[in-house]
Amino acid sequence: MSDINSDLSLFNELVEVLLKEEEKHPVADRIESDKLYDSIDLSLNETGMVDDAFKAVLQDVIVSTPKTATNLFFNQLFGGRQSKAVLGDLLAVMLNNSMYTYKVAGPQVGIEQEIIRQSCDLIGYGSESNGTFPTGGSMSNYMALVMARDAKDPDCRNTGMSKPLVVYTSKESHYSNAKNASFAGIGRNNLRYIPADSVGRMIPAELEKQIIKDINDGFIPTYVNATAGTTVLGAFDPVDKIADITEKYNVWLHVDGAYSGSVIFSDKYKHLLKGMERSDSFSYNAHKMLGTPMTCSLILVKDKKQLHDSFSNEADYLYQTDGDDFNLGKTSFQCGRRNDALKFWTLWKSVGSNGLKQIIDQQFDLADVARDYVSNNPDYTLYSYDESISICFNYKNIDPIALCTALYEHQETVVGFGSFNADTFIRLVTINATNSKQDILNFFKVMEDFVAKTPNLTKVKEEING
Ligand SMILES: *Cc1c(COP(=O)(O)O)cnc(C)c1O
Repeated sequence: MSDINSDLSLFNELVEVLLKEEEKHPVADRIESDKLYDSIDLSLNETGMVDDAFKAVLQDVIVSTPKTATNLFFNQLFGGRQSKAVLGDLLAVMLNNSMYTYKVAGPQVGIEQEIIRQSCDLIGYGSESNGTFPTGGSMSNYMALVMARDAKDPDCRNTGMSKPLVVYTSKESHYSNAKNASFAGIGRNNLRYIPADSVGRMIPAELEKQIIKDINDGFIPTYVNATAGTTVLGAFDPVDKIADITEKYNVWLHVDGAYSGSVIFSDKYKHLLKGMERSDSFSYNAHKMLGTPMTCSLILVKDKKQLHDSFSNEADYLYQTDGDDFNLGKTSFQCGRRNDALKFWTLWKSVGSNGLKQIIDQQFDLADVARDYVSNNPDYTLYSYDESISICFNYKNIDPIALCTALYEHQETVVGFGSFNADTFIRLVTINATNSKQDILNFFKVMEDFVAKTPNLTKVKEEING
């Protein structure tokens, strides 16, 4: 057998190990970080390894790697496994194209463009729109910020920043906004944090107040980041009301939909993004709500000229055939670029837009199950709101940080915590659409059983309070 054939059969064998492990130990056997290098042979040595030992190490790694596809993983904003998307990603690895030119990507270019075109249609962007697949949501936000900067101060692309640009986001937004302000030469101090209302949405009146103040102080308002699904509460900033302001003051409006922008696929929930067609750019991560493998992020722009103006560069050694519409390197940050589109396309092609809609709606249905459970049980306090797939709660006044950590350390379930204003709570994210209602109820049972058999947990909070 050729190398690739025998490695593919080894791959299948290892995947069997993984799938069996996921059933037996939905939360992986945890290795304490200070024992990691003593527990598995991760060393790289002068001589290679013989086949059986190699396979054994790979199995060890698989067994103790955290399992993100199981019904007990609720830690972050991804989880589960959409198998048709996995198929596409495996094919992308085998094909190993680079998305910069038609010459080396061929029909993969059309696959990427078809996803972008349909996404732009769903947002309501017109015929001049386009986009690209950056490395993730942070990079999507960065590209949006750079386009906004260049639109406001075109010379800065050649001469560097000289104008006092300021940018805006809500205090509940993703932390990439601060880093990106630094990377783009705008500076973290020139990022204004706008207060959020009691349910975590940016307050438009506060935004306008700050913009007016900045204008009076000689600054140039340049960019507003509105979030579709804030990282902790899953709140949607009011895009329509924010667009009234950005249009009035001629400021770029970006919608960061990394978490929940995929609601564009749902007739039932896309109203949460009312006014999105008025934005200048929009990003969403298919590896979050749509469940593709990591990473699959899109940045879409209403006017593709902006993408071109900020990201294209001539390169004779690269662009040797075909037009710009087929040479996607002209609108990307990277040069060599992984094919993140194919996994999304195989999923979409196989289930149709109706199937994607069901994936989204299922997560909200599961969220309703969790919210109902929490609000109908006096042992719980609920901190989150309707129309979000982040369910934030505390149980029996137990310190949420201690409880999440103990659940993880005892391999019960993997779930995280978050804070909003003065409260800290457990955040259950119902983003895995392959889960059933029973899986959600099972999460609560696992947690309650664990608390019942772990009496010293309650003390933590009592000690903090006392
Ligand atoms: C996850 C997330 C991001 C970052 O996306 P990455 O792909 O992890 O870089 C940005 N914004 C929001 C609202 C997110 O939830």
